Amino acid sequence: MTDVIQLLPENVANQIAAGEVVQRPSSVVKELLENAIDAGATQLKLIIRDAGKTLIQVIDNGCGMSETDARMSFERHATSKIREAKDLFAIHTMGFRGEALASIAAVAQVEMRTRRATDELGTRIVIESSTVKTQEPCQSPTGTSISVKNLFFNVPARRNFLKSEPVEMRHILEEFQRIAMANPDLFFSLHHNDAEIFHLPPGNLRQRIVKIFGEAANKKLVPVQEETDILKITGFVGKPDYFKKARGEQLFFVNKRFIKSNYLHHAVVSAYEDLLPADAFPLYVLFLEINPMRIDINVHPTKQEIKFDDEKLVYNYLKVTVRHALGSNNITPTLDFEQEPAFQATPTRTPSLRPEYDRPASVGDYGRNTGRSDDERRHEDNLRHWQKLYEGLELIDKADTPPQSPESEPELPSEPVVQFQVRSSAENAALDDESNSFSKSQKDPYQIHGQYIVSHIKSGFLLIDQQAASERILYERYLEALGTQPIATQKMLFPKTLELPPADAALLREIVDEVNRLGFEIAEFGGNTFVIHGTPADLSGIPEERLLEKVLSQYKDNLELQLGTQDNLARAMARSAAVRRGQPLSIPEMQDLIDQLFACSVPYSSPSGRNCFVAFELSELQKRFGG
Ligand code: ADP
Ligand code: MG
Repeated sequence: MTDVIQLLPENVANQIAAGEVVQRPSSVVKELLENAIDAGATQLKLIIRDAGKTLIQVIDNGCGMSETDARMSFERHATSKIREAKDLFAIHTMGFRGEALASIAAVAQVEMRTRRATDELGTRIVIESSTVKTQEPCQSPTGTSISVKNLFFNVPARRNFLKSEPVEMRHILEEFQRIAMANPDLFFSLHHNDAEIFHLPPGNLRQRIVKIFGEAANKKLVPVQEETDILKITGFVGKPDYFKKARGEQLFFVNKRFIKSNYLHHAVVSAYEDLLPADAFPLYVLFLEINPMRIDINVHPTKQEIKFDDEKLVYNYLKVTVRHALGSNNITPTLDFEQEPAFQATPTRTPSLRPEYDRPASVGDYGRNTGRSDDERRHEDNLRHWQKLYEGLELIDKADTPPQSPESEPELPSEPVVQFQVRSSAENAALDDESNSFSKSQKDPYQIHGQYIVSHIKSGFLLIDQQAASERILYERYLEALGTQPIATQKMLFPKTLELPPADAALLREIVDEVNRLGFEIAEFGGNTFVIHGTPADLSGIPEERLLEKVLSQYKDNLELQLGTQDNLARAMARSAAVRRGQPLSIPEMQDLIDQLFACSVPYSSPSGRNCFVAFELSELQKRFGG
């Protein structure tokens, strides 16, 4: 028998290695931009065609390369950034593996032009599937320009595996934004198919944040700055009233390298404590600087994970720092907890609720251990209970109780009280009253906990999730609108201009025709500005910018699902305009919702697959009572 083991030909080895480094167009963007930064460039231009499938080009004014280095740069494990193993533990550049250019050249057609300031002529190299096609002297400005054409042209399986252009473009934008954010002192621009999407002049971090996340962020930034011997934290966090319902404006950098960390995200969010509503994402752009000896970034070439030698310490330090920043801007309600007398004076409006105050915390996350003393926590809990209860009353008042004179005791709602297990006898009496009046209108639908509707049917009752049902109804209506029946527009008396963050503006330009079929009248105004002339006639009441912002953010979240523009937009819009949990509904509103739900072609589930209702059969109920 002959031996069977052979060394792989170099181009095959490179292609395999490329699978690790180059997963999609955005990976190329990252590697090229990082190389330009390592080369000391102050101006970086990124040019993209067809979401990177046809062309990804980075032009920099960095140090350039000699002819030999230009050729060497495409060899695997060829790098100018480290020389010895020990250098691995003190990395101050973005790259160090010497794999990126070799990998990219293995799976694309690459052209490089480069010149050092001291050389008269530059070098041009064309390389394809790891094979050098051309190497010649050329005219070139100082710096380097690398074009990567037809990515994965020689790996059809990979090319086919790429997602739709909007998805790939979104990844590119993310990568670009992270790198631009980490280097506010450098000029960046991004062109996509001849449109300039970003133009970022050098400036400070605040200016860069505003350029990338949009003007609205400007007044909402709280500076963060703290330093110890081992860790320095700088950057900005958003004020608690400036948050989004989706991810997107949260960035951590460790030694200028973007990282993802749910653990550190948790540290920041917990610093806000109860200032943020549930599932809200505050803005933050935070830079951690730490001795490279204390971290390991060598986990994986493309993963943005990082290991700290003492993770807990970083967590706590980060949390305290953010808390402090929020506190020193008078945003945290620390004072409220201490001003107990004032808070005790307020609730005289609701005397019957008094017993609540002394009840130890027990409901859900109220008992969260936040590291404060028990006393402090109890005060905070009490305050929250009271507010919660009061909020409940307000909702109910608006929904279905007649207005009361200020002196009269507030009538107790029948449902929200269930959340608070302790009831006084006065409350119980009030409850009895309520249930009597309820029995009079048994056939009417009935809302519980501000989120479910109880609807009697012959064989029992239905429990309808108001939000899921509303999403289903709107989704079907919007699909129809996008197909044959555009929704009527309510013209606005005073058109509103809206300046969007560049990435959102690019997205809206792509789908503006469809958005207008849903009843908006939006016109492009040039740059990232749009003018809203009208909104969907049946949706008056929701502020237009807010609605549009929600729709765009939902739309972006859905991109990964590859739904197609219409389906995605119908879902995004339905989600954004739907009746929310906690929204009080009148009886006619509930009836209307039920009628419309059952007129839908698929009433059973919301577009994202949640049940719209659950049926409870009388026979089933009887069984459960042992009947
Ligand atoms: P790494 O960045 O890990 O060193 P790369 O394959 O990305 O590996 O690049 C190989 C080498 O090519 C770099 O070490 C650097 O010397 C050189 N190089 C790459 N891009 C540029 C650029 N834009 N300007 C100057 N030199 C560059
Ligand atoms: Mg590199």
